[in-house]
Amino acid sequence: MFSRIDRYRWSFQDSHLPEVTLFAGENVAFDQRAVRELRQMLEVQGTMNRWSSHAPEAFPEGAGLQKVVLTPDFHKAKGIPVGTVVQTRGFLLPQAVGNDVGCGMRLHTTSLTAEQVLGHQKALIPKLRRMFFEAGRNIPMNRLQREALLREGLLGLMDTTPRSLQEGLWQLFHDQDLTHEAEHTESLGSRRARNTLGLEDFLGQRDFTRDGQIGSLGGGNHFVEIQRVKNILHPGIAHAWGLRKDQVVVMVHSGSVSVGYTCASMIREHLSRLYPAGLVHPRNQLYPVPNAEVHEETVLQNWDALNAGCNFATANRLMLALMVRAVFQDLEMPTDFPLLYDATHNMIWEEDGTYIHRKGATPARGFEAMQNTPFRFTGEPVLVPGSMGTSSFVLAGLGLREALSSASHGAGRVLSRGQAMQGSTQDLDDLLRQHRVVTPVDFARTRPDVAREKLKELLQEAPDAYKNIQAIMETLQGAQIAQPVAELEPLITVKG
Ligand code: 5GP
Ligand code: MN
Ligand code: MN
Repeated sequence: MFSRIDRYRWSFQDSHLPEVTLFAGENVAFDQRAVRELRQMLEVQGTMNRWSSHAPEAFPEGAGLQKVVLTPDFHKAKGIPVGTVVQTRGFLLPQAVGNDVGCGMRLHTTSLTAEQVLGHQKALIPKLRRMFFEAGRNIPMNRLQREALLREGLLGLMDTTPRSLQEGLWQLFHDQDLTHEAEHTESLGSRRARNTLGLEDFLGQRDFTRDGQIGSLGGGNHFVEIQRVKNILHPGIAHAWGLRKDQVVVMVHSGSVSVGYTCASMIREHLSRLYPAGLVHPRNQLYPVPNAEVHEETVLQNWDALNAGCNFATANRLMLALMVRAVFQDLEMPTDFPLLYDATHNMIWEEDGTYIHRKGATPARGFEAMQNTPFRFTGEPVLVPGSMGTSSFVLAGLGLREALSSASHGAGRVLSRGQAMQGSTQDLDDLLRQHRVVTPVDFARTRPDVAREKLKELLQEAPDAYKNIQAIMETLQGAQIAQPVAELEPLITVKG
């Protein structure tokens, strides 16, 4: 059971288990259903023990779960709870990053003001709808670019997209300072995959064709949001990061859509094949990948799939952001558009001989760990969105070891999807208008039954479905995980 250690921390006690710490202040809603899911996840230690007593050479010396951290947005998902950070030694747990490999957040600053954006809202909303949902985007790619993108992310894309390619969004791609982009992206937006095995569907034709994957937002809690800087909370860091009060910024939350899903399925398949015949399979279908010499190739294949998914997701977020810039430009609202930061919250990192798995948790490293990056004086930017109707925050990581240098990546659900869908669609309709939400469905022109279905789905995204973001912030700050830099409020939200 969980017992409280202090104002911001709980500990989960069980003599067979590694240290489990939940960071949550008194005002943070606690999801009991996620605890069961957590327990099931921890059974992987038993699976590993069973396997290594059957085949001792499979795991290196000292293999095991090391530590588990749960962030304040901890809540039930399908398999592993959102807000789970797992540190292991001697084995990988690729499934612990979830199916949306590489899902993450990014934030661009602009030179626009909130008045400018709101003044143009009548024109902006249909143009955003067209750009995001009605085939408005035009991002032709050839096979070489797709291959380079999967194998090396942003750097691969830079090397295979010549300046002469100006069609569609590529003109805006070249307008970005791409060196700045890479430097302001976690791991330079470029992880190395040796090959693109299993991803043939995405590679497609040799010639340029419009790409149906890149620039797709995905549904649910993914979003693109035009926001206003409401308050500056740390003037020094805000200045260093180019954040000013009343400035417009653009936040993107998206993942690797079907490319990442393919990566995750490939991983699952590998793993069940690797597991020794004759041993009882884990009932949660969660398989460790032993990092011993005998399994070296499998470990590498898993990294290839994870890295390819992550590379795609990062480039996808870049394109989604450029799609907003394209709409601004179209409305004669030219703007600077530097990237403040892009980081994934579903991935594995190697650190001091251990593996840190984050699922729905974002890295929040302190300045010491950010040497050789633009954040060596400030700590790592941490983006914590709230909901389409509440504030979101930018923070600076403090590198708290006890939290495995990880922060919450959002407010987290408080109502299950089913519960949230019980809400009134009439209230939601008002809410969508009030919060200027752009959806694939134009409610003014849609048959009432279709509109009602879509509204029901969107109820899952209503602000009430999420925990109180202020309470999350209190915990992140109080526990010294990260320090608040700026508060953002939504102006226009694009939801899939
Ligand atoms: P997840 O990665 O678990 O899918 O979602 C991350 C977080 O995004 C959620 O916990 C929630 O706080 C936040 N979020 C979901 N929808 C929206 C939205 O439309 N706007 C903003 N600003 N945040 C959202
Ligand atoms: Mn996602
Ligand atoms: Mn996500």
